Amino acid sequence: MTTQPHSKYPHLFTPLDLGFTQLKNRALMGSMHTGLEEVEGGFERLAAYFSERAQGGVGMMITGGISPNEEGGMGSEMSTPEHAADHRQITEAVHGVDPDIKICMQILHAGPLAETPKLVGPSAVRSRLSPLVPNELDEAGVQKQINDHVQCAKMAKLAGYDGVEIIGSAGYLLSTFLVEKTNQREDQWGGTFENRMRFPLEIMRRCRAEVGENFILIFRIAAMDMLQGGMAWDEVVLLAKEMEKAGATIISTHFTWHESAVPTIATMVPRAAFSGVTGRLRKELSIPCITSNRINMPDVAETVLADGEADIVSMARPMLADAELVKKAFEGREDEINTCIGCNQACLDHGFEGKEISCLVNPRACHETMLNYELSQEPKKIAVVGAGPAGLAYATVAAERGHSVTLYDSASEIGGQFNLAKQVPGKEEFYETLRYYRRMLDVHHVDLRLNTRINAEDLVSAGYEHVVVATGITPRVPELEGIDHPKAVSYVDVIRGNVEVGKRVAVMGAGGIGFDVSELIMHKGVSAATDKQVFAREWGVDFVNHPRGGVTGVVPQVEAADRQVFLLQRKSTPVGRGLGKTTGWTHRMSLAKRGVQMMNGIEYRKIDDKGLHISIEGQPQVLEVDTVIICAGQTPARGLYDELANTGIAISLVGGAYKAAELDAKAAINQASYLAAAV
Ligand code: NAP
Ligand code: SF4
Repeated sequence: MTTQPHSKYPHLFTPLDLGFTQLKNRALMGSMHTGLEEVEGGFERLAAYFSERAQGGVGMMITGGISPNEEGGMGSEMSTPEHAADHRQITEAVHGVDPDIKICMQILHAGPLAETPKLVGPSAVRSRLSPLVPNELDEAGVQKQINDHVQCAKMAKLAGYDGVEIIGSAGYLLSTFLVEKTNQREDQWGGTFENRMRFPLEIMRRCRAEVGENFILIFRIAAMDMLQGGMAWDEVVLLAKEMEKAGATIISTHFTWHESAVPTIATMVPRAAFSGVTGRLRKELSIPCITSNRINMPDVAETVLADGEADIVSMARPMLADAELVKKAFEGREDEINTCIGCNQACLDHGFEGKEISCLVNPRACHETMLNYELSQEPKKIAVVGAGPAGLAYATVAAERGHSVTLYDSASEIGGQFNLAKQVPGKEEFYETLRYYRRMLDVHHVDLRLNTRINAEDLVSAGYEHVVVATGITPRVPELEGIDHPKAVSYVDVIRGNVEVGKRVAVMGAGGIGFDVSELIMHKGVSAATDKQVFAREWGVDFVNHPRGGVTGVVPQVEAADRQVFLLQRKSTPVGRGLGKTTGWTHRMSLAKRGVQMMNGIEYRKIDDKGLHISIEGQPQVLEVDTVIICAGQTPARGLYDELANTGIAISLVGGAYKAAELDAKAAINQASYLAAAV
């Protein structure tokens, strides 16, 4: 890439001088734990994963978190030359693509969040996210942790990394020294802020002394930790300044502890919501600053840089979603970017469940050695029926591989269930996925036939060699007395705006769609996902005055529709338990703030003019509602499949038509992509 100003993204594509070295552009792939370090053949897979992103034009990448010792709790450790030798596969692959692309290793000591009985902390204070109480470090223990960080940095250098990022945020070890809640020590490591910041500063100072001048040292700071009683702004500034003096090359801003009650990366967070905080910190420092969080497209990155809010923009999940994001921006192919929608469903949710991570919109992520879209040696004439996520994924992958693909849908636009999802406040990013697929259909020359309901006979006579049935789902209609009463309506009609919803509403079924529909009908005004001020007001963040943690003493204020909503399920488990691990709590909190009453253990009895008759623990009662919205799951729509069964044509069944129960876009796109890669 050139050092001449780029016509559209002049800031993003300006190199950054770090003194002893240069970053070729301002795009960083931030740290993302993949879980691959711990699986067989994991380093080979990591090498492929990082080298694809290097080929995609990124300036610098940070690995997932690696512990300096066993207490660090990440499963993967860097403390010996043997560990360094494993990591050489990664660094050589990246530098083999381009020696100017930097790759740094993140040192992550989970502290009180480590899942090991050996966990340690400044004080024996349990995180609310962990069942374990950390072992309080004594003086020798503190010195050991510092030494282990230094050894880890030294081994990372031996492994060929260009630097390390030391994480000092999120509720991990270093950050727990910084706040009074978790640091109750009375020795030189606790008490005043000067004492509390001594531990991370000592680590930085000693790492710099050990690795020498020509090695990148990044400190990840909780610039707004979102904790009641968290770090004050002057403490953040002081820590960053002291880090600079201690030898940090770059300060990377982070905006949370995992236990905070403010969403910071979910799709309901506005794009670049926190970059203004980085901008303020940047003015206090003379070393470069990285900003992050919900920066998912090049124009957002460019604006942040042009506004002086950061020197480098971190895009971690966006580069999981599209390894070529930077290259596509450089070449003016932004409409081909597969945009991260901030769902967390295949990345962070998997990570926190101990599963290998991937990406909902890009199943190749972290599976680069396993899922490849190679040119077919025997191109076929294929019909895909249904242009929802499964049909779109199949059609575009098969066409990319050289098959001749025709995609049919009876609707007037592509998207299937995504067209419903995108209308839910907080899910605006789904528009991007549809834009991406629309473009991919063109790029790979898929013959798109909308407004066309094709039947088996026509498919046979058209001479298709393979038919892919992606006809989706039919909303389930529960067997219940009065289900045909005018009060009972389907979620599809509610989202499409085909029916009037009354003031008192029962939502029958509390899966993802029950939650979405409740959000939609309780919503008032501008979506928080598209407006930073609304987001700040709804979640109780004060960006202007920056009280401790950004949230201390700020009362969330939510405007809600003038309605009473009951969200119901038959199971006796807590409502919303089945939602994503990292985002479910945000949906539950959002509805609770809007006054939605969530009720479990419900037995439905009937619907009549009075409302919805239910029983709880055998006690009958009537919810006197005007509307009952049925969100009771789905069944596969397989009419076409049955029609085709005896025709002799090869058929694949994908998405909801294959399996409706617990089906989501992640499963649909994944299944369709793997099948299309093999056809
Ligand atoms: P779902 O998750 O299967 O939930 C269906 C709900 O209906 C359940 O709460 C179930 O709970 C209830 N139900 C099932 N059969 C019923 C019956 N015969 N009578 C009354 N209630 C019944 O389905 P969904 O909400 O339609 O979502 C479909 C898929 O899209 C899911 O996989 C979901 O994860 C995904 N999705 C995800 C998100 C997201 O944000 N991640 C958002 C929307 C949709 P009880 O049986 O306990 O009553
Ligand atoms: Fe983004 Fe969702 Fe993919 Fe994660 S799974 S990278 S949040 S699109």
